[in-house]
Amino acid sequence: MGKVTPTPYLLTIDHLLTEEERLTWSAAREFCERRVAPVIEQHYERATFPKELIPEFAEMGFLGSSLQGYGCAGMNPVAYGLTMIELERQDSGIRSFCSVQSALAMWPIYAYGTEEQKQRWLPGMAAGELIGCFGLTEPNSGSDPGSMRTHARQDGPGGDYILNGQKFWITNSPIADVMVIWAKTLDHGSETPVIRGFVLERGMAGISTPETKGKLSLRASMTGEVVMDDVRVPAVNMLPGVRGLKGPLSCLTQARYGIGWGAVGAAMGVYERARQYTLDRVQFDRPIAGFQLTQQKLVELHNEIGKGLLLAYHFGRLKQHGSLSPVQVSYLKRDNVRMALTAARTARSMLGGNGIMGEFHIMRHVCNLETVYTYEGTHEIHTLAIGRALTGLSAFS
Ligand SMILES: Cc1cc2nc3c(=O)[nH]c(=O)nc-3n(C[C@H](O)[C@H](O)[C@H](O)COP(=O)(O)OP(=O)(O)OC[C@H]3O[C@@H](n4cnc5c(N)ncnc54)[C@H](O)[C@@H]3O)c2cc1C
Repeated sequence: MGKVTPTPYLLTIDHLLTEEERLTWSAAREFCERRVAPVIEQHYERATFPKELIPEFAEMGFLGSSLQGYGCAGMNPVAYGLTMIELERQDSGIRSFCSVQSALAMWPIYAYGTEEQKQRWLPGMAAGELIGCFGLTEPNSGSDPGSMRTHARQDGPGGDYILNGQKFWITNSPIADVMVIWAKTLDHGSETPVIRGFVLERGMAGISTPETKGKLSLRASMTGEVVMDDVRVPAVNMLPGVRGLKGPLSCLTQARYGIGWGAVGAAMGVYERARQYTLDRVQFDRPIAGFQLTQQKLVELHNEIGKGLLLAYHFGRLKQHGSLSPVQVSYLKRDNVRMALTAARTARSMLGGNGIMGEFHIMRHVCNLETVYTYEGTHEIHTLAIGRALTGLSAFS
């Protein structure tokens, strides 16, 4: 397939953006096209993550982008969302790396850490010198994180915590220097365990982070475990600012917000390629884009992308003004990821046999979006969260 030419969009948000937001968007697009696009397919096939790009992600301000200070770019939520579009237009695994670093590892330290903890880890993480991960899920605890078995026990008053357990499906864990781990915690003298967040560091005795092999989705992202066997963690490594499930769930709300934008990027990528392909591909003596059924598919893709973009923008401005609720983030993540997955499957069909080939960059998005549909709260769990908001009745229990 030749170079993808500019694709028409009948619904844009350009006129709603500030000059700075527009510049951030075009810089992110230029960078991702220049540095990520040429290497991503090869990494995906080999199931490797392009670690060499980490310093450049840092330079672009993609790590901790929306945090203020500590070497972070301090982007507003809309500018942050626009960078997510461009990262995920290339690959959900690349966007996942930046999401996990920013929203799941840096954000809890920023929101719930002491000043000393922020100074200790955030500048290195913003610079890409320290890689972070977020450990909530376990082999027997996925959609129901309150059932986690990982536990921490304090060894004497003010003493170290001893952590035991196994976190599973942890993005970046095999290369992580800093691991934000959620554990049911017994402070010294207490008999009631409470979920608390700890910052574990590579090199602490008793930690291992084996990589999970054999993924057929999100292959250009490293996934692994964090296994903790009597890990002794100093009390100064506990995040003091939050207790209970609210801690991990509030981090997930930050990350899901970015996914809601990123998914639009994946959908744009597959729509643009499918449009170009159907203009170039001739069957029955005419471009297949001239057939009514093909046009119907293109119109569906195009129109759904416009709505998804507007949804992300609208919620982005609410977030900027501090009034975006977690259930609105569920709405954004759920609907835009479903839209993107449907778009990718449709686009795949439009390329016929070539649609399954790596070099056409659509099947990779189909496979990736299967993960995005499931992680950070499954599609079904977000449906239940929204259902609860609409009815006042919880279907969870
Ligand atoms: C590639 C990848 C990377 C990940 N990265 C991270 C990470 O960095 N950190 C981390 O902590 N986790 C991570 N996860 C874990 C992810 O968040 C979980 O996979 C997800 O929460 C679902 O949990 P589960 O896989 O155990 O599925 P389950 O919870 O077992 O769910 C299986 C199915 O049952 C459905 N289901 C469950 N309960 C209900 C219910 N009450 N009503 C209706 N349906 C229900 C689910 O929707 C789903 O369809 C990652 C996962 C993947 C695949």
